[in-house]
Amino acid sequence: NLLANQIAAGEVIERPASVVKELAENAIDAQATQVQIVLENAGQDLIRVIDNGQGINRDDIPLAFVRHATSKIQNRQDLFKVMSLGFRGEALPSIAAVSDTTLTSQEKGSANGRQYEIKGGEVVEDQPSTGRIGTVVSVRSLFYNTPARLKYLKRPQTEMAKVTDVVNRLALGYPEISFQLDQDGRTVFKTAGNGNLQQVLANIYGRQAAQKMVPVAGESEHFKISGFLSLPELTRSSRDYLTVLVNHRFVKNFSVSNAIVQGYGSKLMVGRFPMGALNIELDPLLVDVNVHPQKSEIRLSSEGELTALIEKVVRARLAQENL
Ligand code: ADP
Ligand code: MG
Repeated sequence: NLLANQIAAGEVIERPASVVKELAENAIDAQATQVQIVLENAGQDLIRVIDNGQGINRDDIPLAFVRHATSKIQNRQDLFKVMSLGFRGEALPSIAAVSDTTLTSQEKGSANGRQYEIKGGEVVEDQPSTGRIGTVVSVRSLFYNTPARLKYLKRPQTEMAKVTDVVNRLALGYPEISFQLDQDGRTVFKTAGNGNLQQVLANIYGRQAAQKMVPVAGESEHFKISGFLSLPELTRSSRDYLTVLVNHRFVKNFSVSNAIVQGYGSKLMVGRFPMGALNIELDPLLVDVNVHPQKSEIRLSSEGELTALIEKVVRARLAQENL
C-alpha cells in the first residue's frame, strides 16, 4: 500500500508546487476564505498550508490519508459533475507517502481537534489538539524516501517560481479568497479576498499593467465568460500571462487562448499575446476533467460555440475602445 501510494505520488506530486496546489485546493474545497501558504527553502524544508475552512471531523482524519477515500464524491453521478477541485482522494495519501506530514484540524462546532502525523506512510503521532477551526497541513522532508524524485528537483528559485505560479492562478480563480504566500519568513504575495479580479491582477502583474486591462463579459447558450484582458499596447511574447479558468479551475486549452488572440485580430502582432484572466462558466457536465491527473488539460463539449463567443466578445470590447 505504501508502494501504491508512492506510485500515485509519482503521478500527482512532482515537486513542491504540486504539494502547494493540492493542499490549497483542499482548503478551497473546504470553503476557506483565507489560505496561507508558508514555504521554507523553496519547500525543501517546509510546505505549510493554513486554512480557515470547515475542518475535518476528528474521526475522519485517518480516512483522509486512505487512497480513494474522498469525501467529495458520493456516487458515479457526482463524478460527472465535479465542481470541487479534488475528487480522486489521492493527494493526501500520496504526499504522506513521500514526506513527513502533519495534519492538524478542528471541525466547525467542535471543541477540539486532532493532530495526526504520518511519515513515509506510517502514523508516527496522533494526539488531540486545541486551536482554531480549520486545517493546517505541514509537509517536511519532501521526497526523503524517493531519491530519484528529489534529484529531479530544479534550483530553489525555479521551484519557488512554480509555487508562485500555482498560487497566482488560484488567486485569479478565487478573487473572493484571500491568499498569502510567505517565503522564508517574508510575505511575498497577498490578495485582499474582496472579489476584485482586477486587483488580483494588480497584485500579480503590478498596478500599471492592471490599469491597462479592460473588463470583458458575455454569454451564449451554454457559456458565460468574464474577466480582464489587456489593451493591445500591453502584450507579451508568451501565453503564460493569460490565465484561462473554467469554473474557477486554471486550464490549458489552446482553442480558448487562440480564440482570444483571434478576437484581437490585426491589433495584435504575430507572436504576441494579451495579458489578463478570463473565466469561463459552464455546466460541469460539459467538461471532462478526467483527462490528466493534474487536471490542467481539459476537454470541452460545444467548443465551437465557446470560441465563437470569446472571439465576438473580445472584438466588440476592443471596438468599444475605438481601436
Ligand atoms: P480529495 O481532495 O481528492 O478528496 P485529498 O487526498 O486531497 O482528496 O483529501 C482527502 C480528504 O481529506 C478530502 O476529501 C477532505 O474530506 C479531507 N480534507 C483534506 N484537506 C482538507 C482541508 N484543508 N479541509 C477540510 N478537509 C480536508
Ligand atoms: Mg484534494
